[in-house]
Amino acid sequence: MAGNLTREEARERARLLKVESYEVALDLTEGEERFESVTTVRFTSASPGASTFIDLHGANVRKVTLNGTDLDVSAYDADKGRFPLTSLAASNELVVDADCTYMRTGEGLHRFVDPVDQKVYLYTQFETADAHRMYACFDQPDLKATFQLTVLAPAGWEVVSNSAATGVEELPEQAGKHGTIQAARRWEFAPTPVISTYITSLVAGHYHKVTSEHDGIPLGIYCRSSLAEHLDADNILEVTRQGFDFFHRVFGVRYPFGKYDQLFVPEFNAGAMENAGCVTFLEDYVFRSRVTDAVVERRAETILHEMAHMWFGDLVTMRWWDDLWLNESFATYMSVLAQAEATRWNRAWTTFANVEKSWAYRQDQLPSTHPIAADIPDMQAVEVNFDGITYAKGASVLKQLVAYVGLDNFLAGVRDYFAEHAWGNTELEDLLNALERTSGRDLSSWSKEWLETSWVNTLRPEFEVSGGRFTSFDVVQEAPVEHPTLRSHRIAIGLYSLAGGKLTRTRRVELDVVGARTSVSQLIGEEQPDLVLLNDDDLTYAKVRLDEDSLRTLVDGGINAFTESLPRALCWTAAWDMTRDGEMSTRDYVKLVVSGVATVSDITVLQTVLRQARLAVQQYADPAWRAEGLSLLATELRALLGSAEPGSDQQLSFLQAFSAVATSEEDLDVLQAVLDGTSVPEGVTVDADLRWTLVQALVSGGRLAEDGIQAELERDPTAKGERSAAMCRASIPTAEAKQAAWAQIVGGELANAVARAMIGGFQDPHHPELLVPYREKYFAEVGRIYQEWTFDQASTFAVGCFPALLIEPTTVRSAHDFLSTAQPPQALRRLILEGADGVRRALRNRETDAASA
Ligand SMILES: [Zn+2]
Repeated sequence: MAGNLTREEARERARLLKVESYEVALDLTEGEERFESVTTVRFTSASPGASTFIDLHGANVRKVTLNGTDLDVSAYDADKGRFPLTSLAASNELVVDADCTYMRTGEGLHRFVDPVDQKVYLYTQFETADAHRMYACFDQPDLKATFQLTVLAPAGWEVVSNSAATGVEELPEQAGKHGTIQAARRWEFAPTPVISTYITSLVAGHYHKVTSEHDGIPLGIYCRSSLAEHLDADNILEVTRQGFDFFHRVFGVRYPFGKYDQLFVPEFNAGAMENAGCVTFLEDYVFRSRVTDAVVERRAETILHEMAHMWFGDLVTMRWWDDLWLNESFATYMSVLAQAEATRWNRAWTTFANVEKSWAYRQDQLPSTHPIAADIPDMQAVEVNFDGITYAKGASVLKQLVAYVGLDNFLAGVRDYFAEHAWGNTELEDLLNALERTSGRDLSSWSKEWLETSWVNTLRPEFEVSGGRFTSFDVVQEAPVEHPTLRSHRIAIGLYSLAGGKLTRTRRVELDVVGARTSVSQLIGEEQPDLVLLNDDDLTYAKVRLDEDSLRTLVDGGINAFTESLPRALCWTAAWDMTRDGEMSTRDYVKLVVSGVATVSDITVLQTVLRQARLAVQQYADPAWRAEGLSLLATELRALLGSAEPGSDQQLSFLQAFSAVATSEEDLDVLQAVLDGTSVPEGVTVDADLRWTLVQALVSGGRLAEDGIQAELERDPTAKGERSAAMCRASIPTAEAKQAAWAQIVGGELANAVARAMIGGFQDPHHPELLVPYREKYFAEVGRIYQEWTFDQASTFAVGCFPALLIEPTTVRSAHDFLSTAQPPQALRRLILEGADGVRRALRNRETDAASA
């Protein structure tokens, strides 16, 4: 991997330079491999005569001129992606004329051809440091500058960038270097305000466009032409308007980037990207098939997350990637707040407790866990840090900070922070200072306790009861020896009683838990209820345990009896944590799911619980019980499919989950009948994506093979169809099919999205036995791949192809052997350790499950 800029280098360069402007001229009319990129940079140097370098990756450099003097182009270091600059003047003008490379990995300027109509689509993705794959630049967040783009593009294309186009000039067909040039258009864009390179952007191609306006802000929504019929622009625009109104109200600063475009782009690696005024989204958020409201809710969260970044991230930007967590956590926290307060998803905090917190707890217990405030010495370190700590634990801790300082004080501090640092770069301290001023609280010990240490505490109730009343009640706080920090938690304790089939809260106490044991005197003398819930209302960040009586209430049907969604979700999370930690057997967890899943009304919680139950059976169950567990789950899901309300989200969720666990001939018959249309549950629409879900289950079950996949692809010859077919082919349960898939995956020629799909099919949890030969092959290849491929592609492979389904001590041993012999770079080491930890956990949980038999 090239271009690993270090923090030291970035600091040095920022001390030396002040960048004023980039003018970037691109020619996208010639060639499928490369494009012309001419960059003019104006910058000053604090010490004339000094040397530095500009970043430029994957380029053929034609000509470089510094202050009118041609530089020797052979000085370009292609390996490092740097061009050295010496003898700087006080004020400099640098012109770099190069051919740059289109990417197929979703990094830099990505090029995609739609298989439906052969139309071309381009988009950029530059975070963390890939802007210099499109134009020469000082690619670090604290060297902000204005950015002015000119693009020559084929006629018929839309071209979108951070600012509005100021002119579009028609150029007729003409003679060019490689023959006749098609008719083209030259797009001129207004210079942006000063922004960081990683949020500059370009999106171009035959995009379909919907325009609107809100509160003086021009709005645009874009997607590929072949998806236009599926674009539900009204829903997206509604959330966008709600978001602008909310953020304008709470941030006190107007949206600073003029127009606001949201573009759904093909083969995107992340959920979305906050390019100033030009936000790109994962194209799966254009729904070509029926999705549940969980997905629509997630899209709204993503829309609001990116919008929050326009202020926090784009207007005020972290100086260096150490503060990436703050950038992401703030956007996540604000998006959920906006969602709960300004949209129809008023239960967004339940989703947060269920999805974000589970992600954070999981990540925080990996051997690679790290403090929220991470040390990021170089770009490789930040690339692996887009994780559950950075997004979800950080947001959980911000939520807890808000509980500590109060929402009004928090928002007042945020307003001051925007006003003071607009267009600048900041560090964590700048925000903490603003919050201390508005709240009057000292945040240094909070910051130390929560931001500078790792791992999650466990809170456990311990009480004695006499005559049905508590004679003592303590909250016990635990931390493992390797991460011994005990923290201060503000928590609520809820007492829940069953009456008339309903489990309702009869008492709530709120208190500070500090140290190893906190006595809760308020509860002494109180009647023992049916269920005691620590961290009720989800105020703090901690795993909670249920006492034996409460757990029995839950398992005996209490999970169905909650009248509120949040405590129910918290109990589901507690049960899952106990299962993951080997304190509850897999079979008990699966039985809890089977008994309680019918009444889960929050669709996100339902889908999470179903996913966790599947994972539990496939990975955490005693192998001797696995088949029984799978059949238990399949039988229940089939029954639920029959009884669910026709056309409901629940029904679709049950069908999707059933497809993933159907292995018996009888169950496969049910899926086959849905696919064939001979027996479709009332209310189910067998659309393109559902068909592929069914096809994949039937392929994995041995009912369909290449012919069936090919027939389905002919029916759905779209990009999504191609990816689904790739996934299905890789899940054909034969040694030959696995071998063919493996060869393509390690060949490295696949586009990012296709590679991901193929890996998904290759790692079919129903047939781990076919993957045994690939354990050794994986460890033989992963080091080379990590060196040679781009970061995203390499980590997709490193994580996706790790032999996670081979739950055997050999896998753990192989991983450690690899680490000691290959001595891989830190970032890869981390991914391997995480994979091995998952296998170790599964082995432990299988033992727990076997012992409970
Ligand atoms: Zn973000």
